[in-house]
Amino acid sequence: MTDQNDLLFERARAVIPGGVNSPVRAFKAVGGTPRFIQRAQGAYFWDANDKRYIDYIGSWGPMILGHGHPAVVEAVQKAVLEGFSYGAPTEREIELAEAILALVPSMEMVRLVSSGTEAAMSALRLARGATGRKTIVKFEGCYHGHADALLVKAGSGLATFGNPTSAGVPPEVVQHTLVLEYNNLQQLEEAFALHGKDIACLMIEAIAGNMNFVRATHEFAKRCRELCTQHGALLIFDEVMTGFRVGLHGAQGVLGITPDLTVLGKVIGGGMPLAAFGGPRAIMEQLAPLGPVYQAGTLSGNPVATACGLATLKEISKPGFYEALAKKTRTLVDGLKAAAAAEGQPFNADSEGGMFGFFLMNELPQNYATVMTTDNAQFNALFHGLLDRGVYIAPALYEAGFVSAAHSEDDIAATIAAARDIFSKR
Ligand SMILES: *Cc1c(COP(=O)(O)O)cnc(C)c1O
Repeated sequence: MTDQNDLLFERARAVIPGGVNSPVRAFKAVGGTPRFIQRAQGAYFWDANDKRYIDYIGSWGPMILGHGHPAVVEAVQKAVLEGFSYGAPTEREIELAEAILALVPSMEMVRLVSSGTEAAMSALRLARGATGRKTIVKFEGCYHGHADALLVKAGSGLATFGNPTSAGVPPEVVQHTLVLEYNNLQQLEEAFALHGKDIACLMIEAIAGNMNFVRATHEFAKRCRELCTQHGALLIFDEVMTGFRVGLHGAQGVLGITPDLTVLGKVIGGGMPLAAFGGPRAIMEQLAPLGPVYQAGTLSGNPVATACGLATLKEISKPGFYEALAKKTRTLVDGLKAAAAAEGQPFNADSEGGMFGFFLMNELPQNYATVMTTDNAQFNALFHGLLDRGVYIAPALYEAGFVSAAHSEDDIAATIAAARDIFSKR
C-alpha cells in the first residue's frame, strides 16, 4: 500500500523548503516522514492514511479544549459570515481585551497581534522604548519567537553577550542581548551587577516549554523580579505557551510573581492566529498612536480570530476547568512514571495545568544543558514507538506536551499502556 504521507512529503518538499512551514514539523530530530493531517476532532487527529492519533501537541498548545469544540466552531462560523477582516476597529476586540485583562491582573492594557513572535518582538521594542535602554536579558533554552534580537545563544564565559543562532542575523543585532543559564542565580546577580543600568528588560518563560518542561524555581523568578525593580528594568513574562495553559492566570498566577509586561499567544487564539502583549497603562501608552514606540498590523485583532479566542476563553473560565485538566495531566504523568519504573527505565516527568514534560533521566532538569543530555536515540525510539501505536507527541525531545479537555480517561490509559509496552521491549 502506498503511504500517502510519503507522497505528500515528496510533493511538499518540491515547493516548500523542507516540506513544512515551521521547522520542527519536518521530523528532522526524530527521522521518518511527517504525518500530514487531514482532520481533527476532540483529542484526535487523522493523517493522510486515515490513521488516528491521540494528539498531545494540540497545535503546540492552543487546542486546550480539544479540536472542534462546538461552542468555538459556532462562534467562528458566525464571525465568518459577518466578514473576514475590516482593517477598522470592532467591538469584539474590546471584549477580548476586557476578557484578557480580567484574567491577568498584572495587565492594565493590552494590544492584540497575530503571532507570538510578533508579540514578543513588540514587547521588547516597547521595553526598550519605555526605558530608553538597549540591553536585554534572556535565558538559554527559552524561546521567544524568531525576531532577530532573540535568536541568540550564550557566548563563551559567564554573562557574556550572545551569538546569533541563525544565519542572516548580524552579530551587531544581538550585541545587546545577554544570554544567561536558566535557574542560575549567580549568573543573574552578576549580569545585573555588571550591566544593571543598561538593562531595558529581562524576558523569561517562567515555566519554560521550549526546552521540554522546566520550571524556574520560585527563588529564581523572585530574584528576577527584585533585580529588575532595583535596576529600573522591566520584567517580561513570555506566557505565549503558559498563558491560560498552566492555569487561568498563567505562570505568573502559579508563581505568585507580577511581571511588568506579559506576552500571550497560543491559547488566546484557540487555534487561530492571535497573540497579545500588555502591562501597566503608563508603559502601554508609549505605543503608537499615543506614544513614540511604533507597532502595527493589518490583521491585528482579526474578527474571526477574536471570535475564536473569546469563545475559547469563555469555556476555560468555567469553574473547575483547570482542576479537571490538571488532574488528567497528572494522571498521565504519574502513569508514565509508574510504567517506566515498572520496566526499570530511567524516567521523570512534571506537569502544571494542561502542560507536561517527561525526561529519560531520573532527575528533573533545571536548565537547557541538562535537558540536552537526553539520549537522542532512546527518545526517538520512544517517539516512533508511540507514533506507531497511535500516540502523537512532539517530534523533538526539547518540546513540552499538552493535554486538552477532550482527552478521556481511556485516552490517557491507552497512552500509558503504549509507553509501558515500549519500555518493556528495551
Ligand atoms: C510559541 C512561542 C512563541 C512564538 O509564537 P509564534 O506564534 O509561533 O510566533 C514565543 N514564545 C513562546 C514562549 C512560545 O512558546
